[in-house]
Amino acid sequence: MSGLLQRLRAHPLALGLLGAGAVLGLGGLGWLARDLSASSEAASRPSLLQLLEQVTQPSPSRQLPPRRPAPPPPPRPAWVSPMARQCVDLDPRLRQRLEGELSALSVRRQRLTIDPSNYGVRFKSDAFGNPVDPTPQVVVLHETVFGIGSALSTFQTPHPRDEDQVSYHTLIGLDGQVIDVLDPSQRAFGAGNSAFNGRWVVTNPRVGGSINNFALHISLETPLDGEDNDSGHSGYSGKQYDALALVLADWMGRFPIPADHITTHRQVDLGGERADPRSFDWSELESRLAALGQLC
Ligand SMILES: [Zn+2]
Repeated sequence: MSGLLQRLRAHPLALGLLGAGAVLGLGGLGWLARDLSASSEAASRPSLLQLLEQVTQPSPSRQLPPRRPAPPPPPRPAWVSPMARQCVDLDPRLRQRLEGELSALSVRRQRLTIDPSNYGVRFKSDAFGNPVDPTPQVVVLHETVFGIGSALSTFQTPHPRDEDQVSYHTLIGLDGQVIDVLDPSQRAFGAGNSAFNGRWVVTNPRVGGSINNFALHISLETPLDGEDNDSGHSGYSGKQYDALALVLADWMGRFPIPADHITTHRQVDLGGERADPRSFDWSELESRLAALGQLC
């Protein structure tokens, strides 16, 4: 820029022509603006009363966008829980054992922080201005595929791009260790494009809807033989099912989450790419939740 100015100073004629061009250009713009306003002014000249009203009312740009109906998720079959209702013949010994585990768990349970790019706040309205209920109402089960350390390291890594951001609320190691990374009040990025029983919330129209705004996400550490794309593996440990049942029982007591709102990533995923948690044994969870009185 300074080079151009120096050259213009060396050539006064060029400077003069440039100045004249600028004056003509601005004049032309002014004429165009006057012409446009003149044609619209005659049609809608505000009255003095309207002008006075505008003084006291917020400008349209400061008002909330008008509400529009949110698009519904694509139709899919409703979730049918594999767990049966159970109110009698509860297993008192299993309950006693799990209650013993619960007191040990409260001491062992860990809390880790993760990078803020990988989670968010729960929204109280969607992208179209409609109010939405941010209370957790669904639990989504996942598996880590690789070790729990790998999952934690991913959550602790900053991810500027939307498509890389990921998190769960809680993870359960093969040894039954429970690691909380997000409080239930926060919105984990556990299932991108997803819906549950005809429900989703659209918070970003570019990526479709998701259940994240009303879901809790929990992930089981995959056994070593599951670090691949196979359809199954050797399954989860008894200690994992114990810990899972105890975490779920706690959430079910704190939030409006009935047993048939415990589902899988495979079920809620609209992209058809997720198959987790593979080799999940619902009967293992069912017997424990029943003993804890959560299936009645
Ligand atoms: Zn998953």
